[in-house]
Amino acid sequence: MIKNPISATIPLDADGVHHGFLRLPYSRDDSAWGSIMIPISVIQNGRGPTALLTGANHGDEYEGPIALLELAVTLTAAQVSGRIIIVPAFNFPAFRAGTRTSPIDKGNMNRSFPGRPNGTPTEKIADYFQRTLLPLADVAVDFHSGGRTLDFVPFAAAHIQDDKANEAACFAAMDAFNAPYSVQLLEIDNAGMYDTAVEDMGKVLVSTELGGGGSSSAKSNAIAKKGLRNILTYYGILQGEMEIAPTIKLDVPDGDCFIFSEADGMHEPVVDLGEIVCKGDVVARVWPVDRTGIAPTQYRAGRGGILISRHFPGLVKSGDCVAVIGVDVSVPKAENTRAA
Ligand SMILES: [Zn+2]
Repeated sequence: MIKNPISATIPLDADGVHHGFLRLPYSRDDSAWGSIMIPISVIQNGRGPTALLTGANHGDEYEGPIALLELAVTLTAAQVSGRIIIVPAFNFPAFRAGTRTSPIDKGNMNRSFPGRPNGTPTEKIADYFQRTLLPLADVAVDFHSGGRTLDFVPFAAAHIQDDKANEAACFAAMDAFNAPYSVQLLEIDNAGMYDTAVEDMGKVLVSTELGGGGSSSAKSNAIAKKGLRNILTYYGILQGEMEIAPTIKLDVPDGDCFIFSEADGMHEPVVDLGEIVCKGDVVARVWPVDRTGIAPTQYRAGRGGILISRHFPGLVKSGDCVAVIGVDVSVPKAENTRAA
């Protein structure tokens, strides 16, 4: 097996607080022997579980990096039982560019697993996580939000899995995160995802979608920070009381939950995030932008439920995801399926 070229500038298994880099050699026009320096912190104190915490898997999603940079700068080793590995910007080149994918190789980190040690920079980072960091972890938290093109109600998510024991452990960790919404996802196209890599190792993964629009808010950052502390407390890595509030449990059971635009145009949201929709309700309209006198195309909910995601920018292209409906599983079924 080819060795991964990434080296850590700090020990991954020493007690104390260590801040450093994952150094990925990257020879290029402006730096012949240069490297990509991916920030990492490891906070360890004796034996115990290991949490692997990542943000900016997609480079334009900010709650994760904010919560993780704060955690890295505030935690002392004495507060920890076990080990916390913090990588605030998983796809660091994408994070620096403020883009979803890497500007170097267009790599989407969440479609690059298990990666390749001799592949593109994105694939090399994926391989390093696959073969070096993930084997150290008991639980992984991977922060996402909608980025520049989507916005979400704030939720933590865990996947439906074949391995029911691991599925239960992931759902329990999602509950511990305790975002305002908790979503069980059946991932239809899971090849190459970090989530799948973690779950295939029989380890616990919690992911999130905490907002979007290419920025963050005081509210979404507070949710990220609380969830992080709750999960670490749940695993006994931090001490103290978990902060638990009511959460709305949602399911995204099939393709009827997703609504895609079939034309370019201007996006008019008709329903806002978190609002209840019935099957057949118009959730968005798309206006032609180059003439008057033409009615907008109307996009309708394929299911009843709650609007959990919407297209963010004012203009929309054919094929863009306009809206996503989550089915509320904490209310009787009839509530979600009222006919339009
Ligand atoms: Zn993402």
